[in-house]
Amino acid sequence: MGCYGIVSMVSRRGKYFALLIVSLMVLAWIATYSGETSKRTVVPPTLLEYALRKYKLKDDVDFLTLLPDLLKPSQKIQCPETSPLLKGSVNLTFDPALKLKDVEMENADVSRGEYEPPNCTARQSVAILIPHRDREKHLLYLLHHLHSFLQRQQLHYAIYIIQQTGDVTFNRAKLLNIGYLEALKDFNWDCFVFHDVDLVPENDHNLYMCDKHPKHLVVGRNATGYKLRYSGYFGGVTALSREQFLKVNGFSNTYWGWGGEDDDLRIRVQLQRMEILRPPADVGRYTMVFHKRDSGNQINKDRMKLLARTPQVWRTDGLNSCSYKTLSIERLPLYVNVTVDVGKPQR
Ligand code: BGC
Repeated sequence: MGCYGIVSMVSRRGKYFALLIVSLMVLAWIATYSGETSKRTVVPPTLLEYALRKYKLKDDVDFLTLLPDLLKPSQKIQCPETSPLLKGSVNLTFDPALKLKDVEMENADVSRGEYEPPNCTARQSVAILIPHRDREKHLLYLLHHLHSFLQRQQLHYAIYIIQQTGDVTFNRAKLLNIGYLEALKDFNWDCFVFHDVDLVPENDHNLYMCDKHPKHLVVGRNATGYKLRYSGYFGGVTALSREQFLKVNGFSNTYWGWGGEDDDLRIRVQLQRMEILRPPADVGRYTMVFHKRDSGNQINKDRMKLLARTPQVWRTDGLNSCSYKTLSIERLPLYVNVTVDVGKPQR
């Protein structure tokens, strides 16, 4: 057989192969359109979830009408390593007349607490978790500054406010565990930023992204002369990847009231032989919005005792033992509002 013969045999085989593929596709198409029930079963759940999120649809939609759009190759390129929108140190304002409606209007591109850069694919998807109770004015100031800060960093992000209901002593750490567990039900976030409501970042080079090791982002704050409080300080704002936080079993659930829970997390991180990374001092700067100690958040006198037992209990006290009742989840324009009953201290 000459060269021509081989080529024609190969191309004949190619044609049969193509015919087979087309027949299979036609069969699959017929199966897909034959009746409501089979229509539902062929939908891969993760793709459907993605479509619902992307198109911001509430529930039952005809997935097949979205399919052509979903299969189109993405036109977006990855966002640059350094965002061109960064401004560095910014002048923060705290206008007493500021209203939630104003902040909503400034952030028309944020929907249900979530944002994606319009012209490029973000390098990380980040969930910002903010524990909260009765600090509405602080929350408003933080939302006002944080949304534009995160958008300048070209992140795909969502802000979750985790509200503790009732008047039992505040439990910051447990609220953050809950935030992690609840946010993962929405999306497989790469990175989690655990954020106090009264701290506003001053410099957008302080990246709210995760790294090879857990990050502590508050090097200094105005109230304490922008000095690190002590070398092991790990409070205020921290960023841990999904895996890093899981590896340490999250925060302890047993710190009620002010103090200790952040030191406990540092011990967990150190037990896993992870390091703590910090931005340079001129970048990791925060303004603390002044407030008196909240009545439901008294100093936790037991914290030193609790810290002494962390190496023995971290495996069983944390994400894997975090029990709570979700009372509501509201998807508001600027944040997801998760209201929970965290229970009460066991004495
Ligand atoms: C507390 C921490 C707190 C730190 C700085 C420590 O004594 O245990 O929770 O973040 O002081 O105020």
